[in-house]
Amino acid sequence: MNSSLPQKHKNKVIFAWLILFFLSVFPQPALPETKIQVKQGGIARMTLEPGVPISSISGRFKDKTVPYFETSKGIFVALVGIDMDQVLGTIPFTTTWQSRGKTFTQKNLIEVQAGAFGLQKLTLPKNKVDLDAPTLKRVRGEKSRMKAAFANSFEKRLWEGPFIAPVEGRRQGTFGRRRLINGKPRRSHTGEDISAPTGTPILAPNAGKVVLVGHFFFNGRSVVIDHGLGLISMYFHLSEVNVEKGALVKIGEQIGLVGKSGRVTGPHLHWGMRLNNAKVDPYAFVDVVLD
Ligand SMILES: [Zn+2]
Repeated sequence: MNSSLPQKHKNKVIFAWLILFFLSVFPQPALPETKIQVKQGGIARMTLEPGVPISSISGRFKDKTVPYFETSKGIFVALVGIDMDQVLGTIPFTTTWQSRGKTFTQKNLIEVQAGAFGLQKLTLPKNKVDLDAPTLKRVRGEKSRMKAAFANSFEKRLWEGPFIAPVEGRRQGTFGRRRLINGKPRRSHTGEDISAPTGTPILAPNAGKVVLVGHFFFNGRSVVIDHGLGLISMYFHLSEVNVEKGALVKIGEQIGLVGKSGRVTGPHLHWGMRLNNAKVDPYAFVDVVLD
């Protein structure tokens, strides 16, 4: 082979083969470790540009698998939700991928910083706080229905591009707020409340599938949308629901109307977002390019 090539070209070919040989025999050098800072309730956007065809890729965070998706530009992206109650500190995020029969890993570090959450003091009727036995039973049942909706997200990404806010209204800044209800500490506020009059249309902030429609004790009339790959959004206290369970919705499609159903003090939309089961700030997705 290459017998017709002059000697200096033959040397080049041998040299190239030697490089390929060493690359295949010796392990790849470890990729440099990077550290990023993310606030509680935020999103860590991890990217990888392998430059070679890959057969599989996944991330690992807190002993759980985090899926990657490929963008139109050939970049692989994993979105890591940092729960609003995540204990502060540095947590490793490890990416593993396979290319041409070889396994590669890259370790990155996510430093979780404190979110600036305030305190919310609420006064509510006693029977809406200290629940009687039948109500407690109802609430527990509703909680497990909600949990099931969060647990089985589609393995395919249904959303695309930046999210839009579901309602035109004033953002109250209540995400992550520690709560004192009738003077007693209660669970922190898991979503963002948007003030808007009853009857204001609520729009799907991105494409997804409606996985839950219900009328709950605390949340009132509710809609839950699965956007795929562990990203779930929820809408509470509606006056009217305009979609059915199983419906595929497009970005901007009306899903219901603002109301004051459930345990509320006035009409508003409670908008919540889960990413790989972490409670994250829904506005972290609005007008932000994540794919
Ligand atoms: Zn709320």
